[in-house]
Amino acid sequence: MDELVPPRKADITYETETPVRYEVAGQVAWIVMDRPKYNNAQNSQMTYALDDAFQRAVNDDAVKVIVLAGEGKHFSAGHDIGTPGRDLHKSFERRLLWPDHVNKPGAELLYTREHEVYLGMCRRWREAPKPTIAAVQGACVAGGLMLAWVCDFIVATDDAFFQDPVVRMGIPGVEYFAHAFELPPRVAKEFLMLGERMNAERAHHFGMVNRLSTRETLKADVQAMAEKLAAQPRMGLWLTKQAINHVEDLRGKRTAMDAVYHMHHFAHAQSDLTSGNALGGQDAKSMAAANKKQAGEG
Ligand code: ZN
Repeated sequence: MDELVPPRKADITYETETPVRYEVAGQVAWIVMDRPKYNNAQNSQMTYALDDAFQRAVNDDAVKVIVLAGEGKHFSAGHDIGTPGRDLHKSFERRLLWPDHVNKPGAELLYTREHEVYLGMCRRWREAPKPTIAAVQGACVAGGLMLAWVCDFIVATDDAFFQDPVVRMGIPGVEYFAHAFELPPRVAKEFLMLGERMNAERAHHFGMVNRLSTRETLKADVQAMAEKLAAQPRMGLWLTKQAINHVEDLRGKRTAMDAVYHMHHFAHAQSDLTSGNALGGQDAKSMAAANKKQAGEG
């Protein structure tokens, strides 16, 4: 989801050195995205901090359940496409067996980067051998969807909403293409092609959200659910999770994602060739303005 611009590493200004907090409550690890100033926009700094936190929670035998949450008004506004901490052209020590992206020409740069930080990382977190719960309030938009979707359960506040507006950039959905597995196909088409917000109640109706909560009770509700899960045998939970993930993959989730990942990158390349911008000329500001217009007209 990143435009191609020349490397300007000096331009990166992180507002925090700790974009993710790690807290343990009983047998539950809380991984909390902590860039509330930017609605938890996901840069690579945050991505690798999330991976560190998942790794830590997996390594700690005293932790039986993992919660992914977002500090502040919103769970996640999606991938970072415009904060001062946007670090698209920075090298990181990779966790998967992919080369560095920063010196790659043309479409290879984003193709390589997104294999690692989006598709690859999401798949890695989905396979965590402990139950995971996403605690979602406010916006869960575009890249934010991927973070909620990799969790086994989603608990959302009554004012939460879900949206993938990237068709506006000419792109058929975010990199981790679970849309047509999270929602019935016709609803997934509507969700993507209109790009409108889906409220928590409607998402709950389709089974995308397990439980509804409120801003006041989200933390307690999620902790209570996690403690119930923690009372189950560890190995039984891991095997059950693998069983259901396996069924999803037998239904084509993994192969569909592999196919759509390439459509996603054809779209980035087409936008870059025709407009000189891999996001079809959109940025955080123009996307917010279009959302506002759409909400007003809808
Ligand atoms: Zn992308």
